[in-house]
Amino acid sequence: MNDLNLIYDIVIIGGGATGCGAAVDAASRGYKTLLVEQYYFAKGTSSRSTKLVHGGVRYLAQGNIKLVREALAERGRLLKNAPHVTGSQPFVVPVFSLWDKFYYSVGLKVYDILSGKLSLGKTQLLSRKKTLEILPALNPNKLVGGILYFDGQFNDAELCIDLVHTAVRHGAEVLNYTKAVGFIKEKGVIVGVELEDTLGAGGVGVADGGGAAGGGSQAKSRRVVRCKTVINATGVFTDAVLQMDDPHADTLVYPSQGIHLVIDAKHFKGTNALMIPKTDDGRVLFAVPWQGKVVVGTTDTHVDHIDAEPLPLAEEIIFLLDHFNRYCNAQLTKQDVLSVFVGLRPLVKAAGTTVSSMLSRDHTLVVSPSKMVTITGGKWTTYRKMAEDAVNNAVFVGKLEGAGCVTKELPIGDLGAAKKLAEQLIAVDPAMAAILMPAAVSQVDVATELPTANAAHAHEASAIRVVDVVVAARCNYVKTVEDFLARRNRLLFLDARAAIELAPAVANILQKELGWSDAQTETQVQSFVQLAQQYIVH
Ligand SMILES: Cc1cc2nc3c(=O)[nH]c(=O)nc-3n(C[C@H](O)[C@H](O)[C@H](O)COP(=O)(O)OP(=O)(O)OC[C@H]3O[C@@H](n4cnc5c(N)ncnc54)[C@H](O)[C@@H]3O)c2cc1C
Repeated sequence: MNDLNLIYDIVIIGGGATGCGAAVDAASRGYKTLLVEQYYFAKGTSSRSTKLVHGGVRYLAQGNIKLVREALAERGRLLKNAPHVTGSQPFVVPVFSLWDKFYYSVGLKVYDILSGKLSLGKTQLLSRKKTLEILPALNPNKLVGGILYFDGQFNDAELCIDLVHTAVRHGAEVLNYTKAVGFIKEKGVIVGVELEDTLGAGGVGVADGGGAAGGGSQAKSRRVVRCKTVINATGVFTDAVLQMDDPHADTLVYPSQGIHLVIDAKHFKGTNALMIPKTDDGRVLFAVPWQGKVVVGTTDTHVDHIDAEPLPLAEEIIFLLDHFNRYCNAQLTKQDVLSVFVGLRPLVKAAGTTVSSMLSRDHTLVVSPSKMVTITGGKWTTYRKMAEDAVNNAVFVGKLEGAGCVTKELPIGDLGAAKKLAEQLIAVDPAMAAILMPAAVSQVDVATELPTANAAHAHEASAIRVVDVVVAARCNYVKTVEDFLARRNRLLFLDARAAIELAPAVANILQKELGWSDAQTETQVQSFVQLAQQYIVH
């Protein structure tokens, strides 16, 4: 990095699904690659998804067969290439009229047919009795029956760090808490990127406005790296980077907010998920078992303000509680919500519509006169294809020596490195195995579990041990309490109050690992607690 003669083939800005995917693609083709992320990997939208690896049943209803087919192919590839963080999840669509039963069964059979050999299980028509048997939480009122179909599920932040490991395995350099703050140009073409260290000189607690790491005042160092081409993969921050390149550049993104409520599994028993394709006000509603809890979502609300920690609107919370209560015959209140998490979709503007649910979920690629390649839109499920398209274009504009994409069958992950380190540490010091918090996984209700090998167990929560925090700092680029409790372990998303309780213990372990002073450790705990308050529904 300090070698002034070093020129990266490709610098990728943004460490979410798209940028980490692009880093894997570029590095595995043999290009000298640098990935920079201003916070922790997947801090943005990529840790705030509904956790579905899906073709998008909804887009089928909109007639977008090409998008669905492409996403289903990517779904199949991802489940094969990253089996340790993905799984198959059975969904039930309850139907309240014979017409709906016909309509949705045809649609979901087509959905399955479009997945071809990569099908995760056959779509089945269910009687009213069977529907209630496998989805006991469902409100039986006016229920006619149901349709069972299969989609993929994953741990988004875990997949993101696994992409980082994959990129590094193939020679990429990666820097988190590093922000692209300017471009160096020659004859209008980008030849370098100016980078700023967002944690500051002390190494803790100073990223601007990003959450638990935010709010300090230490000096932030800057440096310039030289490159042949740049990929802008910054999600809802796309326009800021476009305008950093050219203040007059057209904006692309029409951000849409989606929130999720996490509730205890006792309110929604079993391992099957609920999918309402169209609520009475035309929205989609999911209730999906995940990591021992249940994720209820989502909403689709246009927002003008872009923030690394977006806040839920009161009406979004009410919408989800009301609709969950109605479809599940429950009486949940705000007090039953263990955590609320909010993400911003980087939807791409379209002429003639301002309704975000009508905007395409396909991705968009733009090459600027400065030869920067911008890629945005799309979804997690299609990150690999987005990365392939972005790198193909970067190769072209950067006049790089051609090398084909190899990611279709590339195994994703650290190939057991973190697990091995954990075992070695425990072998030397058995106290490392001490449990800080038991697993969030609740009892699986065997009576309602489908007789299927498809149930997604790969991404269940596991107990948090001392060694997990140590390994996260040594192997997984963790630099703050938030990094661990929000993304290496998903406790902030699963139960914000429990995460607050655990913060001091995690901070003490990180203090030793990262060499924090007592004051820095205290700052870490305080800023995490402040952030976690935003995940509690008050
Ligand atoms: C509510 C919701 C539910 C969703 N559910 C699903 C789902 O179930 N399945 C699915 O497939 N998709 C889903 N999606 C879509 C999916 O999550 C997104 O398409 C995807 O995560 C976008 O990834 P990204 O890398 O483009 O953006 P991001 O994840 O936002 O990453 C961009 C990164 O760039 C960084 N950055 C910005 N500016 C700079 C800079 N100057 N320097 C350095 N770094 C910078 C940011 O900090 C950020 O981490 C959902 C989206 C939302 C909002």
